[in-house]
Amino acid sequence: MKIAVPRERRAHERRVAATPDTVKKYIGLGFEVVVEAGAGLESQVSDELYINAGATVEADLAALYRGADVVLKVQRPLVAGEGELNELALIPKGALLLGVLSPFNDPESVAAYAAAGVTAMALEFVPRISRAQSMDVLSSQSNLAGYRAVLDAAYEYDRAMPMMMTAAGTVAPAKVMVLGAGVAGLQAIATAKRLGAIVSATDVRPAAKEQVESLGGRFVMVDSEETREAETAGGYAKEMSDDFKRRQAELVATTIKTQDIVICTALIPGRKAPTLVNDEMVASMRPGSIIIDLAVEQGGNCTASKPGEVVNVGGVKVVGHFNVPSRLAADASALYAKNLLNYLTPLVKAEEGAPAGLALDFADEILAAATLTRDGRVVHSAFVEQAE
Ligand code: NAD
Repeated sequence: MKIAVPRERRAHERRVAATPDTVKKYIGLGFEVVVEAGAGLESQVSDELYINAGATVEADLAALYRGADVVLKVQRPLVAGEGELNELALIPKGALLLGVLSPFNDPESVAAYAAAGVTAMALEFVPRISRAQSMDVLSSQSNLAGYRAVLDAAYEYDRAMPMMMTAAGTVAPAKVMVLGAGVAGLQAIATAKRLGAIVSATDVRPAAKEQVESLGGRFVMVDSEETREAETAGGYAKEMSDDFKRRQAELVATTIKTQDIVICTALIPGRKAPTLVNDEMVASMRPGSIIIDLAVEQGGNCTASKPGEVVNVGGVKVVGHFNVPSRLAADASALYAKNLLNYLTPLVKAEEGAPAGLALDFADEILAAATLTRDGRVVHSAFVEQAE
């Protein structure tokens, strides 16, 4: 069984889907691992480290993919017309493709996997059940993004975060507000607290209150019956009513004008991110304030944010970095690679004396949730209709 680990080719992507640690584990499971030359460089993993771990390093991409049973990716492969080459065309028919495939961002890619005869699994669809915690790529990457968002804010902020009482005068602590208290938001709260800021946060899920407060943040929220129903069985937020949105906008508007830094992390799976900060609210902040929009690539929580840009709106810097986990590529790759290993390991069946093989039980709730295509067909319920 051969695992292929290509270099990521999409813009702003510095991560890699396997590390020397996970390579060793795959080899222990009976796999042969081939890594594209230079694939780990931006995550501080040299070719030599992969070779020392037992992998083969291959510079020729066609040779890398030839005969691969499993392809480990961070982002979805390039298809015809998307970039320097068509990676999908190189993946052998019948191979298992694992990655954060973002099918909602590119529904046509799902049909392309089916047509290519690839068994495509989107790791971000793995359900948040206890058994799958160690496979949870959303958590491992969002956690780092929440941390980095605060450091990016501190970097852009022309003031200090903690209170400093010095002989030359007192520096006031920064006031930080975090919008959305999921995995990224909670890590942002913890990081801002560690830097000495005064932190508040909001969410639509009442369960977030206790978590925010346990980190020393103040929880502010619209008082509405609707919030009782705001959380899906999977723990995610739902789209709220227009009335709730109006009341939430009032709450954010009154709070935000007293804040120095706003960290936006609110998302609704499969939908555009909710708009929480409008132009008027940005204008109400004092010059020198910072807004970090982690949701910028999903449409943004802030109307002024632009993907990949730091925009100055009347002295307020609105930061919309691409792919924030990739800004901590070494740690993000290490955790992501471990998530993939934890996903793949239970799928490996080794019979005594026989080489390792894959046994895919598509009735299993984890595989059922993650599998987009198999046997030349689109099988994920969210995309079946589009394919017909
Ligand atoms: P996410 O990235 O989908 O969204 C980020 C946050 O934005 C969420 O807390 C969401 O409630 C919030 N949000 C959405 N719309 C909003 C709005 N209009 N205003 C304010 N906030 C809004 O969420 P996530 O970080 O992936 O976490 C989702 C849930 O999953 C959380 O309850 C988390 O604790 C839970 N979780 C469970 C596990 C597990 O059990 N294995 C692992 C990780 C996360």
